[in-house]
Amino acid sequence: MLGGTFDPVHLGHLRSAVELREALALDRVHMVPAAMPPLRGEPRVSPADRLALLRLGIGDTPGLVADPRELERDGPSYSADTLASLRRELGPEARLVMALGHDAFLRLADWHEPERLFELAHVVVIDRPDHRASLPQPLVALLAGREVEEGEALMTRPAGRLLRLKLPSRMAISATEVRRRLAAGLSVRYLLPEAVETQLLSRGLYRHG
Ligand code: ATP
Repeated sequence: MLGGTFDPVHLGHLRSAVELREALALDRVHMVPAAMPPLRGEPRVSPADRLALLRLGIGDTPGLVADPRELERDGPSYSADTLASLRRELGPEARLVMALGHDAFLRLADWHEPERLFELAHVVVIDRPDHRASLPQPLVALLAGREVEEGEALMTRPAGRLLRLKLPSRMAISATEVRRRLAAGLSVRYLLPEAVETQLLSRGLYRHG
């Protein structure tokens, strides 16, 4: 599972999802847009539009799935609930991974039921070249004894470990920068899939900062 606001989806998300799937030999990567992200402001476009852009961005990419389950629930989008729903579908033995970028990881101890995340899934942190910071103390405590160095260590258990991963194409692309560029009338070419760019521009999404 790779959750996010996807406001809008960009090549940093998509390339990370492809490389994550390869690096950990995952069957699928579910990209799950949040309806109401609990820890940040209201996204700029509607959930339905963010999901539609995500679907366009994924296109026919093997193994990537635009998963609407958080948009079909009421209330805040807690990742623990999303993982619980995936776990129910996949069964207790399946290897389940929650992936997130380093910026999101830094706040993990503030999430809803952080211990439960590790009961339900492995947590895999994707390095981002534009985000560097050391770990806050509550996060260090949450991670105690969970960290492993290699992806193989995730193979022997269905959940509970932490892996920090440097994927081959680390991209300094953020949705914040994409939105800033669109609002300023600047080019977003090669930051997003072409189909997503075409749709954003033709509908004037994010044009007014
Ligand atoms: P914003 O700039 O609005 O905060 P974002 O670009 O970080 O957005 P999100 O939708 O918040 O995008 O990200 C979803 C998940 O993908 C998060 O775990 C985030 O850390 C990760 N992510 C986003 N961009 C990248 C990137 N370029 N490389 C690796 N991971 C990324």
